[in-house]
Amino acid sequence: MPFKPVSHVLFDMDGLLLNTEDLYTKGFEEIASRYGKLFTFELKCKIMGQHSREFAANIIKELNLPLTVDEFLVETRKIFIDLFPQCKIMPGVERLLVHLSKHKIPMGLATSSSKETYDMKVSRHQDFFNLLPFKTYGSDANVKRGKPSPDIFLIAATKFPRKPAPEKCLVFEDSLNGVKAAVAAGMQVVMVPDPRFDRSLAPEATLILNSMEDFRPEIFGLPPYDD
Ligand SMILES: [Mg+2]
Repeated sequence: MPFKPVSHVLFDMDGLLLNTEDLYTKGFEEIASRYGKLFTFELKCKIMGQHSREFAANIIKELNLPLTVDEFLVETRKIFIDLFPQCKIMPGVERLLVHLSKHKIPMGLATSSSKETYDMKVSRHQDFFNLLPFKTYGSDANVKRGKPSPDIFLIAATKFPRKPAPEKCLVFEDSLNGVKAAVAAGMQVVMVPDPRFDRSLAPEATLILNSMEDFRPEIFGLPPYDD
């Protein structure tokens, strides 16, 4: 597949930069088990990348839980407040961000997370997240619709000083909702999914990788690694 050169890069956070998707799974499994229900990988794929109120409503509906969205979020918050500060950076990610930063490639974060949960997750990784100067959160007032709608990526692109056209932006995502959002925004998207993900479900992804360690920046016209 021919890749088009890009000048700007946007990163999803959960499951792409941080292993927080594993932590979400743990939390949702625990809540589901309290009601004798199973939080499946199939349901996980459906809600990945959504805003908290959206995924809460979908889990409640799919598992028929006797909770309101607010009650669900209060209960999960009790679990995540301990889990999120323990999250780890995914393999190959730090190398790429440090490299692109060194070469002054403008980079931004486009996460469905609220600013509040972002703060919990990055508490031990401040220096790493300082490599991404432009940040857009799901809780931002102008991000009306969550992924798979393109809103968050379109807004994130306007935060770059030179306001690049969407086709000049490359998105990195782990979720199908995120891939669809990036494509709807007119951007190329590299997917680095959970190993269990059925890749035939994401034909629109520009490229699918097992790990960020396998990414070669030069295929999108970005400076190659020099070590
Ligand atoms: Mg993600």
